[in-house]
Amino acid sequence: MVTADIEISEVGPRDGLQSIAPVMPTAAKKAWISALAAAGIPEIEVGSFVPASLLPQLADTAELVSHARTIAGLAVAVLVPNLRGALDALAVGPHKMTIPLSVSETHSLKNLRRTHDQVLAEVRAIRAAIDALPASQRPRLEGSLSTAFGCTLEGEVPERKVLEMAEKLVAAGCDEVGLADTTGFASPKQVRNYTRKLWELVGRERLHGIHLHNTRGQGLANVMAALEVGLTTIDSSMGGIGGCPFAPGASGNIVTEDLVFLLESQGLRTGINFERLFAARRLLAAALPGVELYGFTPAAGLPKDFVAATAQ
Ligand code: ZN
Repeated sequence: MVTADIEISEVGPRDGLQSIAPVMPTAAKKAWISALAAAGIPEIEVGSFVPASLLPQLADTAELVSHARTIAGLAVAVLVPNLRGALDALAVGPHKMTIPLSVSETHSLKNLRRTHDQVLAEVRAIRAAIDALPASQRPRLEGSLSTAFGCTLEGEVPERKVLEMAEKLVAAGCDEVGLADTTGFASPKQVRNYTRKLWELVGRERLHGIHLHNTRGQGLANVMAALEVGLTTIDSSMGGIGGCPFAPGASGNIVTEDLVFLLESQGLRTGINFERLFAARRLLAAALPGVELYGFTPAAGLPKDFVAATAQ
């Protein structure tokens, strides 16, 4: 296995499928997850432990965790909105659980129907549930700072609020925090600034990753800022599915295939094989007829004689 310079965390099976109306059959999801792992994707967020009545698209998350856990070397991540979801997740043993906290409290009330204090209380309860397990079975717990770069409801989200929430998430028991540009407001300058300030506050070992959207076309520019400052994990979605796209032709989540090309073309190894990655995309396209997949690299193909850093 290639040692990766940058880790790609594929969020398509969760962030992607949750915002698409058709329900992808469980067998097709399993085949897709296996194909993504076979392409060399090191971490996959396979689903979310939310009630099936809210998100029928993700009702099979427990089964997908069990499937993904059989794939050697793959880090299996899930989203948990609360303690209830976390307990369901712990029963099947993911490697990582992410709980979102919207820095904009208006968004938090609308999205999770919880105040900041209520979310932090859930984090403390989840921490206690994790710590009750034998050390070898404890997943990492990440608090994701949603709407960190701005909110569609509140507009500007004050920097001091982002820092305060990061500190409180760590104090409540998160192993790490993550920055998330839920609304596609982020600029490269903001990405560098927030990363540096959070490192100063909570320590470099508690912030590795960033979740960026391409809503306003800034996704890969923001990735470059994240790389410059030294973040090492980037979330993305195959075909750019999900992430609440607002405008036709503009994807929400950044596109995994284009991200891999950006990294590999400048000598950063992802451990990912392009042919297998495109094969996984064909599986996805076949399983979601009528759903538009984004991405320039799959459409244009690799440049003539291109050799990926991973292949060198
Ligand atoms: Zn997203």
